Amino acid sequence: MSVQFLPYAFFEGEYVPFEDARVSVATHALQYGTGVFGGMRGYLSADGSVINLFRMHDHFRRLLQSARMIRINLPYGIDDLGDIAMELTRRNAADSNVYFRPYAYKSGLNLAPTLSGIADQFALYMVRLEDYYSAPNGLSVMVSTWQRLNDTAIPSRGKVSGSYINSSLANDEAKTYGFDEAIMLDSRGKVSEGSASNLFIVRDGVLLTTPVTASILEGITRRTIIKLAADLGIPLEIREIDRTELYIADELFFCGTGVQISPISQVDRREVGRSFPGSITTTLQERFKAVITGQLPEYSAWLTPVPAAVAVAQ
Ligand code: PMP
Repeated sequence: MSVQFLPYAFFEGEYVPFEDARVSVATHALQYGTGVFGGMRGYLSADGSVINLFRMHDHFRRLLQSARMIRINLPYGIDDLGDIAMELTRRNAADSNVYFRPYAYKSGLNLAPTLSGIADQFALYMVRLEDYYSAPNGLSVMVSTWQRLNDTAIPSRGKVSGSYINSSLANDEAKTYGFDEAIMLDSRGKVSEGSASNLFIVRDGVLLTTPVTASILEGITRRTIIKLAADLGIPLEIREIDRTELYIADELFFCGTGVQISPISQVDRREVGRSFPGSITTTLQERFKAVITGQLPEYSAWLTPVPAAVAVAQ
């Protein structure tokens, strides 16, 4: 998948051409993974007039929480980060669905793998992004032999750069064996999540997802789905999930900023449910789409509109 970067980035306090947003090879975060990042989408509204930044404040709140876990101190609060994201959207004259990648990192060139006394910096760049997977018949996933990292080793509820070695290993294993994605179990053998997404299953009409103590990243899409399900009257339970429940579930889907709601049709080469995609998954997908495209005013607090670039008529 080739990535289309938008022309400007915010880098270490300034708006610069994306090509100029560069760091030294000796950067602490590059050497030791001591950075935290986010991933937020901006959706072009149904009438094309605005880009709606989805749950912007929640994304920046989580970024600052992740930063706190590894002692990164930024001179910005949630609202400052929001202002930077909105200004960058305007400068980039965005006119499509976009993805924002904020990055707070240990920018010092220190040698020791520690956390205090090292300079911190912040950068933000944008890419064009439509669907993450192209899998009209659903994803085929495997239960990974790689265990999801444990919060006693690396903070799992934060988006810490170094921890994505864990995701990369699981995703790589799945691809190597001909699957689309991986589901990871936690250190107790309970279901945790995907390599870059949270997981929901449906059993007997009840929507289930793992608790935040199952070594998951505390996903914002997961929280969105929990709220949408409650508002739609879909029964929901947050509890531990066993591996074999994946084999007997009626429906299964990943959720995340990148993957949005991505139905799974096979786990370990076993078909999921009797019909694909299931009705609860489809209902949630439709509802989610209506929310992000600004068609449901009751969820407008989740959207931060920025005027979209107007195409100049020839
Ligand atoms: N888990 C992991 C490991 C992820 O990388 C992501 C993507 N950010 C998610 C879950 C989903 O989180 P969110 O809905 O906030 O994007």
